[in-house]
Amino acid sequence: MQSSLRDTIDRQILPLATRFAQDVARVVAAAMWETIASGVNQEMQSLRQTEPPKQLEAAGAKSSAKGRAAPTKAVAKEDAARIARINAAKRRASMKPVACPVPGCKRPGVRNAMNFCAVHKKSLPMPEKKRLRALQIKAAAAA
Ligand SMILES: [Zn+2]
Repeated sequence: MQSSLRDTIDRQILPLATRFAQDVARVVAAAMWETIASGVNQEMQSLRQTEPPKQLEAAGAKSSAKGRAAPTKAVAKEDAARIARINAAKRRASMKPVACPVPGCKRPGVRNAMNFCAVHKKSLPMPEKKRLRALQIKAAAAA
């Protein structure tokens, strides 16, 4: 009798328990999908935020980027012009002949030899060359 009662309860509970388990599984699965989906969304948003500003401008996402666009171009143009001027000045300066730091020496100096001429570059010891070159720099600064 007891075992048959138990069988009856089991028969009645088993479908309920099964359905309950299925419901739980469905809810858990849905929650997991939601979590994954929101995680993916966050990833997408962070990716969108790290995209280059050009694309943000195109999408009209940032008004500040739009407002900055024109001045940035003008500044870049100005910078390019200034850099070109500086480069031209550097080029002119590098073409200018240099004088040998040895007083009274008339031979042309060599830039990558601390301005010393070919003869003094070889004949003078380094400490003396450094001293003479420092004197020449000082004189040029004073002039
Ligand atoms: Zn010399």
